[in-house]
Amino acid sequence: MTTDSYTVINPATATPVIDVHLASVEETDTAIERAQEAFESWRAVAPGDRARLLRRFAAVVDDHIDELAELEVRNAGHTWGNARWEAGNVRDCLNYYSAAPERLFGRQIPVAGGVDITFHEPLGVVGIIVPWNFPMPILAWGMAPALAAGNTVVLKPAELTPLTAIRIGELALEAGLPEHVLTVVPGKGSVVGERFVTHPLVRKIVFTGSTAVGKRIMAGCADQVKRVTLELGGKSSNIVFADADLAAAAASAPYAVFDNAGQDCCARSRILVERSAYDEFLALLEPAVTGMRVLDPADETSEMGPLISAQQRSTVQGYLDEVEVAFAGSSPGGEGFWVPPSVVTTEDPSARIWREEVFGPVVAVMPFDDEVQAVELANDTEYGLSGSIFTRDLGRGLRVARAVESGNLSVNSHAAVRYWTPFGGYKQSGLGRELGPDAPQAFTEEKNVFIAH
Ligand code: NAD
Repeated sequence: MTTDSYTVINPATATPVIDVHLASVEETDTAIERAQEAFESWRAVAPGDRARLLRRFAAVVDDHIDELAELEVRNAGHTWGNARWEAGNVRDCLNYYSAAPERLFGRQIPVAGGVDITFHEPLGVVGIIVPWNFPMPILAWGMAPALAAGNTVVLKPAELTPLTAIRIGELALEAGLPEHVLTVVPGKGSVVGERFVTHPLVRKIVFTGSTAVGKRIMAGCADQVKRVTLELGGKSSNIVFADADLAAAAASAPYAVFDNAGQDCCARSRILVERSAYDEFLALLEPAVTGMRVLDPADETSEMGPLISAQQRSTVQGYLDEVEVAFAGSSPGGEGFWVPPSVVTTEDPSARIWREEVFGPVVAVMPFDDEVQAVELANDTEYGLSGSIFTRDLGRGLRVARAVESGNLSVNSHAAVRYWTPFGGYKQSGLGRELGPDAPQAFTEEKNVFIAH
């Protein structure tokens, strides 16, 4: 590894995979300037042709699902099943937004003395900054609607996980997207990411990552009044009422927090259980946790893999060292960055494990006495990204879902991010929404034009 390269490490084995070049500020500037040049012709591509190119891009991704998944298993330690789903999500997202170029409708607004019509004009170059926890889906959630709306994209993967992004950039060219319409620029956040923020030709930043870096990016964007979407951290609650199907709630709870080894912004890392059902729920939760298949992620039956890095493992271990673990699952050990899925019980809402985003396979369980207290405890956080409510009383399910200050709630389910519904956070979990039918409009300026009679 040199100062301008990064050695990708396989987190399951702690062995090097490949060295990746890290772009300099000058290389980043060149990528942005070329993307700006490509913008003029990309925005002029007829809507039906842009749609066709995006569909072809989706088809080429589909032809490479296994290859992309294999890269993600090695680079990020994602389980084979998850990695295939993630590559499929890129394809599905491209297909979904391929319908947008032909549906970017404006409005006709009644005015005196003429007609007023509106247009959705693309912004120009969009800079997308991706974290390491879900490299493929998060890349697609920004890229697909931005391209569909007629923008060009410069995209920075996380230093730790550049491989699938680099390959997807190549597949775009193979699919026939013109050069520099999508440019993947691997590099450091402090170099490439910062340059996206400060370069005047980049007209919008789509950032997914930590709240600390998100705040810095928002401040940087203010300097040029640059558009910005922020998808940040989370500390989401899974609220289980005593009338719920407790067996189903307990069986699914581990997957809502330990999926991707807990490195999930939507992880339901707090479980709130109504006190009268608390002991029964914990008794049901234990076998669900100890039964999880924490295995080499390349094993097709693996349900949880390692953490992304030695540093992430030591951060998570730091939280575990402060608490008593009630029960935990297994992990294969060896050189990889493994932490077993672990359950902690607490009645202290000021405990670090209850308040902070651990970003690892650790869940804290707390009893509550009634609905009002459940909502209070769920809302007692600076975050507001996701959450679940388990109850047989659907009226209560809706009432609690409306009361929890969070962008994405599920009742009797842990469903989280769907590309056809809006996604984003309350409070310090983010700013703006991604995905859903209106996402392409968020990559445009709405312009109104008055024509006198
Ligand atoms: P991070 O903030 O450290 O890094 C995210 C990206 O920003 C990386 O590509 C990094 O290189 C880049 N970056 C770092 N410093 C930068 C700077 N000064 N300027 C510009 N870019 C910079 O986050 P991470 O550790 O990679 O990811 C984990 C975090 O992401 C967690 O907090 C998680 O909750 C959050 N996350 C949120 C969502 C969501 O949709 N809300 C989804 C996934 C992850």
